Amino acid sequence: MTAEVQAHVRSSAALFDRAKAVTPGGVNSPVRAFSAVGGTPRFMTGGSGAYLWDVDDNRYVDLVSSWGPMILGHAHPEVVEAVRKAAGDGLSFGTPTAGEVDLAEEIIRRVAPVERVRLVNSGTEATMSAIRLARGFTGRARVVKFAGCYHGHVDALLAEAGSGVATLGLPTTPGVTGAQAEDTLVLPYNDFDAVRAVFAEHGPTIAAVITEAAAGNMGAVAPLPGFNALLRELATEHGALLVMDEVMTGFRVSAAGWFGLEGVAGDLYTFGKVMSGGLPAAAFGGRADVMARLAPSGPVYQAGTLSGNPVAVAAGLATLRAADESVYRVLDANATRLGELFTSALTAASVPHRVQFAGNLVSVFFTEDPVVDYAGAKAAQTWRFPAFFHALLDHGVYAPPSAFEAWFVNAALDDEAFERIAAALPVAAAAAAAAEEPA
Ligand code: PLP
Repeated sequence: MTAEVQAHVRSSAALFDRAKAVTPGGVNSPVRAFSAVGGTPRFMTGGSGAYLWDVDDNRYVDLVSSWGPMILGHAHPEVVEAVRKAAGDGLSFGTPTAGEVDLAEEIIRRVAPVERVRLVNSGTEATMSAIRLARGFTGRARVVKFAGCYHGHVDALLAEAGSGVATLGLPTTPGVTGAQAEDTLVLPYNDFDAVRAVFAEHGPTIAAVITEAAAGNMGAVAPLPGFNALLRELATEHGALLVMDEVMTGFRVSAAGWFGLEGVAGDLYTFGKVMSGGLPAAAFGGRADVMARLAPSGPVYQAGTLSGNPVAVAAGLATLRAADESVYRVLDANATRLGELFTSALTAASVPHRVQFAGNLVSVFFTEDPVVDYAGAKAAQTWRFPAFFHALLDHGVYAPPSAFEAWFVNAALDDEAFERIAAALPVAAAAAAAAEEPA
């Protein structure tokens, strides 16, 4: 790091030292610690449109968008105004409110297979509740999931998960018991034969298949044509439920998420991120007969003191209402533009690479082979990534701090932001080219 850059991370470094003294690893969610790329995490003070500012007054083009939620860019005036108004009316009542009905109606209007919705506080809570409901509905225990798909830190689903866990190189985590993991069957993503085989062997005991509607937690890895349809077909044939996890893709890759692009219906859906507007809110929903098994209309228990919080609901509703077709067109165009910049910079620097998309989720893998599963993502030259990442950061571009994460564009990225990215990428590509594989 040059002396100049060192001077620029002084306050972040001081804050990180303080944070480490009071919080494990200094962060409240592992990937923020920069463990996979090294260096000092930037402590942000503000965001506006396409940009973030850190405590040292550095400005970054943000290609993480709070890990997905901020499709409109930061501090979007309509969202901020909705939050301001809701907060002024009271922060939490522990009673139903009209906004919760409005948000549920908006989700149902957008995603045809969703007939009923329950609001929760995080994507993890959504997937945990959906799995419990699937087990309660079917009276079966087993859950099929795919390696490299991350569904939050639900005990039973932390088996070979991607995202933070993949970044830390942990095959699974201490604290999850054998009993909790034993009913989880983990298959390679996009492996048609493995799915057929697991249903042939365990069909009558499978409560649910859970999949990211399009994988984004091992980088952007879209389902191969027919893969989700096969899951649909086998789940129906064997009386299991198909849980489409759209926490990442929902309301981002189209108005109706991945369902809007592909049209394969799940029985249950999980949502978070975009529908929260950036505040803590998430949801699960799906078939009316399945959701009817949920308390208080049915016996499967699920609850939350702050679920449907009026301020979070206001942020989510304002975001969805502002996210019209023109926003999705801009998101798609921005993803394409970013992908083209990756390709030209990495080609010019002779770095082996592959730019992949899942809708408008973008990833760059340092390999020439198509990545269709987690093994492929791990086989890429991920050791090039820290140098690539830090060169971008030093040039004012905030990328996801892990090779296993998708890049999230937002609709506020303008020509100036892209010029900054275009200026930084050749330097980053050169750094990736010069990176050396650790012995
Ligand atoms: N499901 C998917 C597909 C995700 O990407 C995530 C988080 O990144 C989750 C679930 C968990 O959501 P949360 O972090 O809000 O608990």
